[in-house]
Amino acid sequence: MLNIILFGPPGSGKGTQSEKLIAKYGLKHLSTGDLLRHEIATQTPLGIEAKAIMEKGLLVPDEVVIGMISSALDENLGVNGFLFDGFPRTEAQSEALDKLLELKNTEIAIVLALEVGEAELISRIQHRSLTSGRDDDANVEIIKARIVEYHKKTSVVEDYYKKFNKVKNIKGEGSVDEIFDALCKEIDNHLS
Ligand code: ADP
Repeated sequence: MLNIILFGPPGSGKGTQSEKLIAKYGLKHLSTGDLLRHEIATQTPLGIEAKAIMEKGLLVPDEVVIGMISSALDENLGVNGFLFDGFPRTEAQSEALDKLLELKNTEIAIVLALEVGEAELISRIQHRSLTSGRDDDANVEIIKARIVEYHKKTSVVEDYYKKFNKVKNIKGEGSVDEIFDALCKEIDNHLS
């Protein structure tokens, strides 16, 4: 299996690049943000709980997203691999993911970390708010809270995987195709 984590701050292009990567490598896309928005749209108890947290730009509890990912792994047996987007976002989520994959006799192959400056992140998310319909994209205070949360809780995920020599840093500024090529180069290097 080829299991990849696409890592980076909010607005770094994970969603855009994920779509291209899953098509090229035949992977199953697992985005906890998308899974949570689906729960909100269908008004499940989990969705109602998550909505209030996401509207503040904060992370939903680890056990909630770990449970969602665990179910998604069980529902997708026999795939070529998974592309994790927006997960793991804390050290506890990283440890849980490693254990879940180990139970399935597999592991994370590579962590691709997109690097984008803060001003560019804010401007991209504000631009995305025109079409995304996401409340958390439309308000600059919420965008900033998400970036603060990223520095406080999520940036450590990169350090966690660095210990296992799995991280490749990629410049996330430039054209979509340039960034995609750089990501593919790292994946192809890993595969060869
Ligand atoms: P972005 O990367 O642009 O912030 P996402 O769709 O990945 O967009 O996440 C949107 C929101 O969903 C986050 O701000 C957070 O509240 C929640 N969320 C998504 N993934 C996780 C996760 N792995 N752990 C906790 N909260 C999450």
